[in-house]
Amino acid sequence: MEIAGSQRFPKWFVQASTACAAVAVLISLYRFPARTVGLPFLLLTLLAVYVCSRFSQAQAHERRYVPVFETFILVTMLLLDGEAAVLLSALVALCTSLQRSKNSTSVMLKLAVAVVSTFLIVWGVRILSGPFAGAARDGYSAWFLQSLWALLVVQSVVNASVVAAGTTYKIKQSVVLNWLGSFFWRVVSVTLAAAVACAAATGIVTVGANAFFALAAFGAICAFAYGSYNENSRLRKEQARQNEKRDRAFYDNAERFRSAFDHAAIGMALVTTEGRWLQVNRSLCDILGYSDRELLATDFLTVTHPDDLATALSNIGQLLKGKAATTQMEKRYVNKNGHVVWVHWSASLARDSYSKSVHLIFQIQDITDRKLAEQRLHHDAFHDSLTGLPNRALFMDHLKLAIARSQRHSEQLFAVLYLDLDRFKIINDSLGHSIGDQLLIGIADRLTKNLRPGDTVARLGGDEFTILVEDIAEERESVQIAERIQKELSAPFQIGGREVFTTVSLGIAPSTTGYEQAEDILRDADTAMYRAKSLGKARYEIFDKAMHARAINLLQLETDMRRAIERQEFFVHYQPIVALDGFRLQGFEALVRWHHPQRGYISPMDFIPVAEETGLIIALGEWVLRESCKQMQRWQTIFPCDPPLFISVNLSSKQFSQNDLINQVSSVIHDTTINPRSLKLEITESVVMENIETATEMLKDLRALGVQLSIDDFGTGYSSLSYLHRFPIDTLKIDRSFVTHMSENNENTEIVRTIIVLAQNLGMDVVAEGVETKEQLALLNELGCENGQGYYFSKPVNREGAEKIIADTYSSLLPVLPTEATQKQGKTVRVA
Ligand code: C2E
Ligand code: CA
Ligand code: CA
Repeated sequence: MEIAGSQRFPKWFVQASTACAAVAVLISLYRFPARTVGLPFLLLTLLAVYVCSRFSQAQAHERRYVPVFETFILVTMLLLDGEAAVLLSALVALCTSLQRSKNSTSVMLKLAVAVVSTFLIVWGVRILSGPFAGAARDGYSAWFLQSLWALLVVQSVVNASVVAAGTTYKIKQSVVLNWLGSFFWRVVSVTLAAAVACAAATGIVTVGANAFFALAAFGAICAFAYGSYNENSRLRKEQARQNEKRDRAFYDNAERFRSAFDHAAIGMALVTTEGRWLQVNRSLCDILGYSDRELLATDFLTVTHPDDLATALSNIGQLLKGKAATTQMEKRYVNKNGHVVWVHWSASLARDSYSKSVHLIFQIQDITDRKLAEQRLHHDAFHDSLTGLPNRALFMDHLKLAIARSQRHSEQLFAVLYLDLDRFKIINDSLGHSIGDQLLIGIADRLTKNLRPGDTVARLGGDEFTILVEDIAEERESVQIAERIQKELSAPFQIGGREVFTTVSLGIAPSTTGYEQAEDILRDADTAMYRAKSLGKARYEIFDKAMHARAINLLQLETDMRRAIERQEFFVHYQPIVALDGFRLQGFEALVRWHHPQRGYISPMDFIPVAEETGLIIALGEWVLRESCKQMQRWQTIFPCDPPLFISVNLSSKQFSQNDLINQVSSVIHDTTINPRSLKLEITESVVMENIETATEMLKDLRALGVQLSIDDFGTGYSSLSYLHRFPIDTLKIDRSFVTHMSENNENTEIVRTIIVLAQNLGMDVVAEGVETKEQLALLNELGCENGQGYYFSKPVNREGAEKIIADTYSSLLPVLPTEATQKQGKTVRVA
């Protein structure tokens, strides 16, 4: 009379069952004899409720059905009466179903089914074989037993049908299969229940109620024991299921980890704290070039680069002491072939919860390519790409270290050698850049081979090299090295099937001067090198205090000169140029002067080269040109004559090679309104000869402006006479050095004579510079020289002085004549 637990049934079915049950209960109550309620009934009720509820709980997890409930109901039916059985079934069904379900419909349905089925059996038996009371005592007739069994089978059919319907409704399984399974088991169960009940009832009647209740207590204990056994075994099974699930999850995880480990793209390893490999993956084997068996035979210490081992071990020590959760570094391994492999290595601890041991997990990523690229970049940043020598930055680094060392140990001397090729530009221009590059590489090679390993050779750029010679006992050693280098480099270089010769100029800056800044010692070596160049190249000079002073002076001069242009500290002096035949004034040469506010008068021989080097000559030259043209224009207006006086202005080589020169000159002519024929531009012979082609063009363009052109310091350069006639030149100025050293029939006189003849042949006129004495004048006259300039006539004088000379000679066009006295004072007077 049990009913399936949680099946769902149509509402009408539940309501109808409930109504039927209510009717059955009411009928039973009405017919229930009060005498039946005694101790046996109460005890039976309590026992039934207790045992059934325990069984119902245990059976909730079992598939098999034990008919405890039916047994109690049948015992009650046989011992007491049918009504007692119906009411007991109602009570027990209510208690057990309340215990198992909170759903009121389900409780109602279970109650109804239990009550109705009991009611039907009671009345069925009663109708078929008479009353129950006395049946147990008198012995059950076969008919009684048959009708009871038949009814129980019918009840089982109904119950099984209901259960099958509900289950099918719920899980949509085959009705027949379900019904058959349920029905078969129930028929067996209820047959057993009926037999037990009959035996129990007969026993109680025969033995007596007391013995029966002792037996019942024993039964209850057995039921309890069975229940708890059932519960325990259920819990054990549940536990086993949980364990199995956990183990499966664990093994799944382990399997997943193993697969991830084996196929990881980076190297992975499980390592003992002593460094022995326990497990290595394929990527790690690839990185280190070993098979996994070979690798497992080594340990992590043997494959680590010796230089990185100490750091790696100390990092692992930190891990093991618990000072860090992970550790990582970039380090080197040595692979099977002995090559260095750069890796990013990270390690962490792995605790084995099973064996309680501690291992290390390594993750190793190959970063060799990146490291090599970094090293290349670093090398490129500090080396010259052509020769592979250290560059300026690296050289300066080494130099700073050398300075620091010598400051700590004063006996450790060093020197910087600054080296510059003497004719590199010519080689580059004439033989081509490729030969030039080969020469630089060859020089770098020879320098490197000729120095000790601790020394540094660097290429600063172009054809400039520097050498840091360290650990020398005395200054003389650096000189010996310089001499050796010069000797080595003077041997010819075989480049592209030809021999290329070169010489170098060297500047030496010894550390004895006590440098604190690397820049200072390099600058001084550079200064010494320049000195070597200006003293004739292919030599060395040692930097000394005087050179330093000169360098400082030059630097100061440059600064002052920039300011001098703004502050108008420059002015122009004029030196007359005189016709030797009759001493008539022809014109003046404009010579710039600088009056320095502190240093007083500074010679143009000192500041013009600096102005050239710094480019200041462009502005200064233009100013002189403008100033002297303006002046000459004014004098021509005041003192008109025929031919008009001219002004001779010097052009430096920088000015001459300046693109804008033509515009500059024509704008000065335009602005000052001077007649271009009255302007003469002096260009030194060497400037013209340096680059004949472009010089010819420039001279032609200047000539086109209408100005006259004069070659200054003629005879000092190496004029190619064959070119001279091509130049549009008006005047040759014979250099002062020839005139000064002229005497009867000596070599200088011959040179002067030749120049004069040459000029006459080419249709040019001549000016002899530096005429200082009467003898020189006489000789020049004898040689047929037309014009002269020199202290004999007048030193360069200021504007007022020049104006006075013009005025004095102009009134009667008298000649400019010196006297003995004025010659000594350098003053010019007109002698009537
Ligand atoms: P330079 O063009 O050869 O100028 C002639 C130099 O000889 C002048 O020197 C002049 O004072 C000097 N001199 C003239 N007659 C005699 C003499 O009888 N005996 C001696 N011993 N010397 C005499 P200064 O003025 O010192 O100029 C020197 C050089 O500076 C000039 O040589 C010229 O190359 C350069 N210079 C002067 N002014 C300018 C200028 O405005 N522009 C450029 N670019 N260079 C200039
Ligand atoms: Ca001159
Ligand atoms: Ca000159």
